[in-house]
Amino acid sequence: MSSRKRRKPRPVDPERLGAEYVCGHCTADTLVSTDPPPPVVFIGHDETCPTRTGAADPMPSLLRALDRAAS
Ligand SMILES: [Zn+2]
Repeated sequence: MSSRKRRKPRPVDPERLGAEYVCGHCTADTLVSTDPPPPVVFIGHDETCPTRTGAADPMPSLLRALDRAAS
């Protein structure tokens, strides 16, 4: 075990995550389900969105949303 102090990870509010998510390629709709747990954030990309077809990496948009939701 390390004695170094670690920054405690902050929980992310799923409602905020859904609200902060902006796809870099389309006007994706988000839907947040919190009941029953665990919370799930659905992201509905446009049919032509490259994220949906697998041509684009969805991580940058998700990381931006996480960053904004946690601040
Ligand atoms: Zn998209």
